[in-house]
Amino acid sequence: MKSTNFIRQIVEEDIASNKFGGRVVTRFPPEPNGYLHIGHAKSICLNFGIAEDYRGVCNFRFDDTNPSKENLDYVNSIIDDVRWLGYANNDEILHASDYFDQLYQFAIELINSSKAYVDSLTPDEIREYRGTLTEPGKNSPYRNRSIEENLDLFTRMKNGEFPDNSHVLRAKIDMSAGNINLRDPVLYRIKRESHPITADRWCIYPLYDFAHSLSDAIEGVTHSLCTMEFEDHRPLYDWCVENVSAPYRPEQTEFSRLSLEYTVLSKRLLTQLVDDSLVDGWDDPRMPTISGLRNRGYTPASILDFCERIGITKNFNAVEMGVLENCIREDLDFSAPRIMGVLDPLPVTIENYPADETEWLPAQNHPKRPELGTRKVPFSRRIYIDRNDFMEDPPRKYFRLSPGSEVRLRYAYLMTCTDVIKDRDGNVQELRCRLDPQSRGGIAPDGRKVRGTIHWVCESHAISAKVNLYDRLFTLPNPGAAKGSDFSELINPDSLQVKDAVIEPEIEAALPGSRFQFERCGYFVLASPASGGQNAVFHRTVTLRDSWGRRN
Ligand code: ATP
Ligand code: MG
Repeated sequence: MKSTNFIRQIVEEDIASNKFGGRVVTRFPPEPNGYLHIGHAKSICLNFGIAEDYRGVCNFRFDDTNPSKENLDYVNSIIDDVRWLGYANNDEILHASDYFDQLYQFAIELINSSKAYVDSLTPDEIREYRGTLTEPGKNSPYRNRSIEENLDLFTRMKNGEFPDNSHVLRAKIDMSAGNINLRDPVLYRIKRESHPITADRWCIYPLYDFAHSLSDAIEGVTHSLCTMEFEDHRPLYDWCVENVSAPYRPEQTEFSRLSLEYTVLSKRLLTQLVDDSLVDGWDDPRMPTISGLRNRGYTPASILDFCERIGITKNFNAVEMGVLENCIREDLDFSAPRIMGVLDPLPVTIENYPADETEWLPAQNHPKRPELGTRKVPFSRRIYIDRNDFMEDPPRKYFRLSPGSEVRLRYAYLMTCTDVIKDRDGNVQELRCRLDPQSRGGIAPDGRKVRGTIHWVCESHAISAKVNLYDRLFTLPNPGAAKGSDFSELINPDSLQVKDAVIEPEIEAALPGSRFQFERCGYFVLASPASGGQNAVFHRTVTLRDSWGRRN
């Protein structure tokens, strides 16, 4: 059982008092107008997690009431993402649109009890009549239409006799209510728009507050858990549920939405990133979407762990990106086999090693898990090391390679740099080195101390790879709040760096999605395998340590 929170306490109390006959029914109701993001994962873990732990049910229901913003690509991506996280793996997917007939009947009930009326003000007039936070609204001149007239007009709205926006159905509550949501909210509007499921059967569509509360009520949801911005909508939620003959009375409880530093978690802003081509689609590995994180190499377990660690409260707080990164780091530290990859290759010729020889040296796959076994790594006269493991003019206490100094090649030999070859502009092009033939396995025969150990890849067996290194997408912690600035100027120009790397041959047969630690470089996921030893593509999921702000 997961750690408790105030919502779990409410659920437990309700079970104890038999409030809903002991039933626990939650729901996850995404609107298919974008891909799911890590904030949705918080809601998914809460809703499905409660159902799992209290022997209840969590309904996976599309809130598909606004066909103009919704499409099938979004629907499919949402289903994939929820299932990838490990939930809703049965065939049961529900839709608010499944209830369009029932919702229409509820609207008729409201008209029959004089609790709803057809209004014929224009959208602008409706806005004007609504009043403000400080001033009450005014009644529409159409507010006192008779039940018969309302029934007639509403039926004709449904039958397509009126143009879009000419009439709406409104709840008759109170135009002077302090809570603006109760000032005769619109329940239905006319919209000639084909729907992904109901096609052209309807030209009127219910609005969120009406459709959502009553879909919950139809399904027998007990605990309707949503984010804080719906707190002011709760009186309307309750009004809808109380004023029709719905079979159940669900209760809404709010919790604070996830906000994460250095990114945005709003579908509007994420859509803008995609539409303005500031990222490479919804599933770009820099995006905080579930599919972006999946492409980046995150595991479902790491995301579930994150949702568990951030907890559920009513308080706003922005979570540091490091919290999410630590979750995947811990997961991969345990699970990812180690290999060697050189991100910025510098060729090295080992002058005292025979030109025609290749040795296969044993290497451990995991330092803490011997059960993951060993592999053989090829070694020969020409190898690559990482450019930043060499300094021509090193500071004191530099333990990597420099002219005249000795370093340990991981799993191989102790090696000393004897010469530096440069191009005409003075850039280091290649190193000449010698190794101690007695030091196979990296152990000095005379017990002398060699502090530095570096990774390397054998040139003749190297697999070339494009390696994408990712960093924070934005340059500031709360880009969503930076009003008035051009979004494109807030993007971190170093959020993606592409490296031409070389990797040891171990990855030759690896399948896409395989995860590795490249020793000393971070955790990587194989996006696309090499063909004929060439052009694998990797994404760096996360660095080995939290290095934000401490660039080296
Ligand atoms: P956005 O604000 O990104 O447009 P939304 O609330 O409109 O999100 P929905 O598809 O309606 O998106 O959300 C489905 C469920 O996920 C809702 O119950 C919503 O409260 C929840 N949810 C959305 N964003 C977050 C978040 N950042 N943290 C926690 N829950 C969230
Ligand atoms: Mg929403």
